[in-house]
Amino acid sequence: MDPNLGYGYEYSYAINMDDNIIPACIEADILSSNDEALAVSNLRKVHVFVIQTKFKVIRKLDDDESDMYDCEMMETEDLRIKFLVSADRSDFRELFDQQFSLIHFRLSEYLMPDDQILALIRQVFDFTQEIVSVDPSVPIVPIVVDVDVCTLQLDGETIYDTFDRAVTPDCLTPLEPVEKENKLCRRRVWDFLLYDLPRVRVDKGSGLMEECPICMCGPSRGSLVSWLPCKHAFHSHCVTRWLIKRQSCPLCRHEIVLDKGG
Ligand SMILES: [Zn+2]
Ligand SMILES: [Zn+2]
Repeated sequence: MDPNLGYGYEYSYAINMDDNIIPACIEADILSSNDEALAVSNLRKVHVFVIQTKFKVIRKLDDDESDMYDCEMMETEDLRIKFLVSADRSDFRELFDQQFSLIHFRLSEYLMPDDQILALIRQVFDFTQEIVSVDPSVPIVPIVVDVDVCTLQLDGETIYDTFDRAVTPDCLTPLEPVEKENKLCRRRVWDFLLYDLPRVRVDKGSGLMEECPICMCGPSRGSLVSWLPCKHAFHSHCVTRWLIKRQSCPLCRHEIVLDKGG
């Protein structure tokens, strides 16, 4: 992996409490039947987190020697997390870490350096704890994290190349539910996709893959490439979309055995 690959990306974020996200995050039944009971007993709390990401490409202005940048807005994505915790704090830390391992995964896909990811998650945790300590009776804690992911045009780079390596939702692992009747199976599919599937960032012209057999495009600078046990390689986001539906190689149909170490 190119150690300088992180260069050319910038991140900023803000953490806020926002009651407006509650209706979108909480099903009507929880609000109507349990809200009052939650508030009275304070035994359990609903925590909702929405990570709202804006993806931007920042174009360097041509005839300007100061650091003036023109901003090009790209797409957005919302990640929603909701969980119930008892008033017992030790329970909360564990649940929080569990739920945020998914966010950690996604922020890594944004090419955010690990120390920045951990700092962000720690701040969200501290912010949440502060909200709860100010008003322990609040039944629902709605936290919004606004994240800007900016791909910066570098010196000597054409804007087309910048767009080519820009972080956009198309190039991310789809975190949609796996359609399976069996919960255990769904969990194993995700464990495999998120944690067992190898991913490596490549520069253009990687030896791993000339062209992705699924989308027929070559890897661009910074692309994530994955390979299956049969050694066939694909864009990570392409093969993940395939594997959500069926657990076999798109090329040779080699079956993926999901049991760890099995
Ligand atoms: Zn592909
Ligand atoms: Zn294969």
